[in-house]
Amino acid sequence: MSSRAESGALEVRDVPEIPERTDVVVVGGGIAGTSAAYHLARTGMDVVLLERGRIGSGATGAAVGVLSPPLRQPFHETVHFLGQGVACTLWHFASHSIATLGALLESSGEADRSGLDLSGGHVLAEPHTIHEVRRSFEALEAAGIEVQWITPGDIRSTIGGQGFAGGFRIEGGGGLNPGPTAVAVAKAAEAEGAVIGEDLDVLEAHRVQGGFRCEAGPHSVFCSSVVYATHVDSARFSNLVRREIVPIRGQGFATRSLDPTFSGCYSTHWKLNVWRQAPNGQIVAGGWRHDAWDRAYRQSDADIDEHLQRDLRHWFEASFPKTRPLQVKDRWSGVFGWTADYLPMVGELPGHPGEFIITGFSGGGLPFAFECGRILATTISGEPAVEGAEIFAPERFSTPQ
Ligand SMILES: Cc1cc2nc3c(=O)[nH]c(=O)nc-3n(C[C@H](O)[C@H](O)[C@H](O)COP(=O)(O)OP(=O)(O)OC[C@H]3O[C@@H](n4cnc5c(N)ncnc54)[C@H](O)[C@@H]3O)c2cc1C
Repeated sequence: MSSRAESGALEVRDVPEIPERTDVVVVGGGIAGTSAAYHLARTGMDVVLLERGRIGSGATGAAVGVLSPPLRQPFHETVHFLGQGVACTLWHFASHSIATLGALLESSGEADRSGLDLSGGHVLAEPHTIHEVRRSFEALEAAGIEVQWITPGDIRSTIGGQGFAGGFRIEGGGGLNPGPTAVAVAKAAEAEGAVIGEDLDVLEAHRVQGGFRCEAGPHSVFCSSVVYATHVDSARFSNLVRREIVPIRGQGFATRSLDPTFSGCYSTHWKLNVWRQAPNGQIVAGGWRHDAWDRAYRQSDADIDEHLQRDLRHWFEASFPKTRPLQVKDRWSGVFGWTADYLPMVGELPGHPGEFIITGFSGGGLPFAFECGRILATTISGEPAVEGAEIFAPERFSTPQ
């Protein structure tokens, strides 16, 4: 995966001793795996996380870091398909997840390194998307969620945006640096007693008497439960994931540091184009897939697509002329796993007791993953279920027998 340089070289870590037995093995150290390991360790269980590269070096390291709007599907569509009650539960679940992740980053002294900026989000409309954006705004307002309409004049005067037909501002959420955030969560999991092993590719997790044996390089770890937080690569472990998760390739870039222009995060087409300005002044942007599905949909190689990179950069310069010529410092691509309802699968694999997944965030894992980790921890430890957990149950994709 061609992800950002910052996520591959986060810090030098002592190599921990990997125990031969544990309660839970978490496979994968992106934002999903680290969140699961953190919450599992907090229940008092012994936890070992095994990551084949460095923590945060998968899709998490390739992400732009946009947290709002939290849902991957436009809000009026979520209301249409799931009803207003479920749509609101999802929105509040994600908002709570952002808040609890933010609180952890603050309390562990990692907020600056993680680039935490919770100053809100913006959904902007171009003339051809104004109708959809308006509908989402109205559905959010009707649900009692705090949003303010912004006019083309507001967009021009605040961020120098041209060609926008309007948009809205969301109270809450914002952005963060995803790779360093995953490292911060892994460190918090370690502080709770989890063992975090890097450069350990889990080739197999085979069922044995009383549990599973996970084979990773020279290590063979016995555990009672195994969690696959392996994103699109979960197909190796689960037929359900192989069948249901579609890989989609996204493109990203980061500029050199620029004068402060953007605060919080921004998107068009709900979240197909996303960008934010990191605290160090770099503009980080990604997307441009909506008019090029054949170049992105079902693409599992994280290759740089020169056409899409150029289109994304040209679109940005045309929309924000003050940034022209945009000095791009870093480019990358990454693959994310999409489900048919845009929602992750979090829970036990149907028909496979003791095997759990946390995956399929459909290109929007950062607002959801932290509390999804808590869902897994309560499910495995037998603590009371997290509100809304049933919405993410993998059973919804099971084939009736
Ligand atoms: C260009 C781009 C921009 C994006 N922008 C945003 C954004 O702004 N906001 C947002 O919310 N989301 C964004 N996303 C989506 C976001 O990246 C994902 O939703 C999220 O990172 C998924 O996290 P994860 O932990 O499930 O996956 P990953 O981060 O991919 O973690 C899975 C980990 O499992 C490891 N692994 C796999 N197989 C094995 C094995 N056999 N043994 C050991 N380890 C293994 C991998 O190395 C990897 O580190 C973007 C994605 C891309 C590609």
